[in-house]
Amino acid sequence: MSDKNLQDSIDEAIKESKDEIISFCQSLIQQRSINPPGSEKAAAQSIVSKLQENEILINVQDYANDRGNIIATLLGSANGKKLLYNGHIDVVPVPPGEKWKVDPFKGMLKQNKIWGRGTVDMKGNIAAMVMSAIILKRLQVPLNGGLILNFVSDEEQGGAHGTKWCIETYPNLLKADATIIGEPTSYPGFPVVIMIGEKGILWLEITVWGKSAHASVPMIGKNPISMMMQILQGIEQKLDYEVVPLYSLEQLKKMASDVFGAETFQRIYTEQEIIKGLFNALVQLTHAETIIQAGEKENVIPERCTVLIDFRLTPKHDPDVLLNKIKEVITGLGPDFRIKDSEDDTRGRVLLKIRTNQAPSVMKNPNTRLLEIIREAHVEVFGKPTFSFLMPATSDARFFRNDNPSECKIASICDNTVLFGGGDGTLAHAKNECLSVASLLQMTKIYALIAAKYLS
Ligand SMILES: [Zn+2]
Repeated sequence: MSDKNLQDSIDEAIKESKDEIISFCQSLIQQRSINPPGSEKAAAQSIVSKLQENEILINVQDYANDRGNIIATLLGSANGKKLLYNGHIDVVPVPPGEKWKVDPFKGMLKQNKIWGRGTVDMKGNIAAMVMSAIILKRLQVPLNGGLILNFVSDEEQGGAHGTKWCIETYPNLLKADATIIGEPTSYPGFPVVIMIGEKGILWLEITVWGKSAHASVPMIGKNPISMMMQILQGIEQKLDYEVVPLYSLEQLKKMASDVFGAETFQRIYTEQEIIKGLFNALVQLTHAETIIQAGEKENVIPERCTVLIDFRLTPKHDPDVLLNKIKEVITGLGPDFRIKDSEDDTRGRVLLKIRTNQAPSVMKNPNTRLLEIIREAHVEVFGKPTFSFLMPATSDARFFRNDNPSECKIASICDNTVLFGGGDGTLAHAKNECLSVASLLQMTKIYALIAAKYLS
């Protein structure tokens, strides 16, 4: 089939299946696969039913503990390449009291948009991936190899019960030549960007023990809140862990300028705070205090104070080095700041606990045929070019590219893994999350085109 014929038939099939694509996406939104606690079973089962109705082979469906993990395959010829589409079924909760314009779990269609939790992150892209496979099957597009579909639970809580579990349990079913994860990778005014790497996370909980006392005679106590202020100030002012970033700010700006044109990009960059913030976050270590707990009574100096700091590491930062530098800063504050080995260790007053440590991850070779095909398909579907970029948050991509045996038992199942998905990324986890029908259909088309081309 020529490129033009292929595009035309995909277009035609999408036009015919428009209502089906929309209602499938809506049905996924209606299944409340909220994580925590993680109850993806019902949504996973709707995906399985859809695939089964269309006679796509289900290799694995696992619903242990109300979770949901699926592996399916659209089979082509036996000897060709394998392309894998991955997406997470779980969504983040809607915070209590957050007032939405619409019910976040109705999947309402209004103003040519589908509304609800998970439309952008990332049930819309899952619907597009599933429907792209179904359309290829209905059109009987010959595939040299196979398209593997892997939809998982638990991405929003680190992925241990989702992608990581799937890779460790079924490495042979998931071994692919290329992997696309359908996380939303577009921002207002941006193309759908190809994310080739992502920052790492260190969630560090710091607890300081002081000495409680009546607040009217503070000199006989030791105030852990004041001590914590010193630690936070120390981290703000003395923590020094600069590295040469994988891409400099200038290089990142150039990648975008090449696509937008220098002048247009400069305007977007200057006018849109969020874009400027994003570019700057990608080239440096950042940290943000996110939780603080201390004190129970107005007139009592508390015994302890706990703070959680969310550090984000660029691909060149090493979490172990960072942790040592943080320890140096804290112990450098004086003898009161000795670090405990454990909570019972009475020799110190400060305890550091790592809540999460997710290594940064980046493709070793970002010049693959997959990237060429995505760029080509992007022009065909959106009429404009796209570019490769990094992502400030983490994703399940690190398990596929994995070179960190402490994080996943199976080493590097697919270095050639990118994130690529529609939807306005600024709406992920946000109030009034919604996805345009246009984006849903365009993504269905582009996922179908990419698979047809990669497996041709
Ligand atoms: Zn996501």
